Amino acid sequence: MDERGREILAKADADQVRFVSLQFTDLFGTVKNVTIPVGKLAVVLQSGENFDGSSIEGFARICESDMVLRPDLDTYCVLPWTATHERTARLICDVHDTEGQPFAGDPRFILRRVLDQAREMGFSYNTGPEVEFFLFKMDGEPRLRPVPQDVGSYFDFSPRDLASQVRNEIALSLQAMGIEVEATHHEVAPGQHEIEFRYADALTSADAVVTLRYAIKAAAHSHGLCATFMPKPLLGVNGSGMHTHQSLFTLEGRNAFFDPEDPYRLSRLAYNFIAGQMAHARALAAVVAPTVNSYKRLVPGYEAPVYICWGQINRSALIRIPGYLPGLGEGSARCELRCPDPSANPYLAFAAMLATGLDGIRRDLTPPPPVEENVYEFDSAELRSQEIASLPGTLEEALQELEQDQVIAEALGEHTFRRYLEAKRLEWDEYRIQVTAWELDRYLTTL
Ligand code: GLU
Ligand code: MG
Repeated sequence: MDERGREILAKADADQVRFVSLQFTDLFGTVKNVTIPVGKLAVVLQSGENFDGSSIEGFARICESDMVLRPDLDTYCVLPWTATHERTARLICDVHDTEGQPFAGDPRFILRRVLDQAREMGFSYNTGPEVEFFLFKMDGEPRLRPVPQDVGSYFDFSPRDLASQVRNEIALSLQAMGIEVEATHHEVAPGQHEIEFRYADALTSADAVVTLRYAIKAAAHSHGLCATFMPKPLLGVNGSGMHTHQSLFTLEGRNAFFDPEDPYRLSRLAYNFIAGQMAHARALAAVVAPTVNSYKRLVPGYEAPVYICWGQINRSALIRIPGYLPGLGEGSARCELRCPDPSANPYLAFAAMLATGLDGIRRDLTPPPPVEENVYEFDSAELRSQEIASLPGTLEEALQELEQDQVIAEALGEHTFRRYLEAKRLEWDEYRIQVTAWELDRYLTTL
């Protein structure tokens, strides 16, 4: 065993770890886990843990189901909510086949592959996601009804409020897991909250999003609450987004998006990147806003984007350039993509976002002029005259766009691209044949 392996064994011993949760994600970003007693860790660090991948969504067929989990030692941390007698550490794993090759359907590998392409072009890719979510009371079990846990709104503060306790607990457990939380606050809708953490390279951020989702669920559960990352659980109020701040750094560590001479403090390269994401936005939506429900969020009036444009003060735009704060220096030059939501698989989302941005760089694309007005208020004539297109209105429309998109197809790879489209079409078809409560209210007695 190498030195890193021995270090992890020593850490697990010092932390009095009893179990190790070996984790990876399926096609949808759902965390999958195999738990081993700590006594088996040395063997797993040497030779990996074999598992049968045939029942994992988007993984292998029966005839090629033997797979191996290879722990990424940089991801070691103790799950702070586990009790002493069953203290559990987690390691996020890469998925290999039995020949030792990375498995083409492993979302982490897909992101790594696009990150490698960026590196060949001389860049590392940083992302800083802002994850929004709701806390609901567990009313109506076994079928939960979304009853907001509080009546707060944007930035509300109430020291005795249970929600702020839950948020603090979440922040503490994330910090204990090595995730640097920058801010937490109440969001606009009742029961809605946001956690922001410090930007990092996209692989670290994607790992953090996955971790954050279950850490939030664990903290909510301990207060008898249900945390949800469903993009639009309540009609008539804001939904939950996962706006993602992005920048490319040179391999020497300089922010390649920064240009002090530009009015938005952005470089030509940043504009190329923005133009690339705008050119692919309708197909990109299928990956970053991947559920039927995602498209109930992407409607006018709730600070979620609908129109494919960019601007600085414009929260209705798809891409926003956050105001430049001189104190933060050049590192803070970035663009914020606002269409992702927290139901996305962050590995696939960041892979597709990076690939479309790089495509803009390769093709030297220029974005249209910025739009600083509230685009929600534009009528169709105004949208047409400024040539502003819309994001897809449904998952089905987004999937049609995705199917045509060569750049995202290549980023996801043949295996995952095909399985993703198949799985999402099934999701859409299942939804399409539902008879909803809205239809019954609207038609049952009137027709
Ligand atoms: N919740 C809004 C969304 O769905 C965003 C609110 C904000 O600007 O933070 O994207
Ligand atoms: Mg927010």
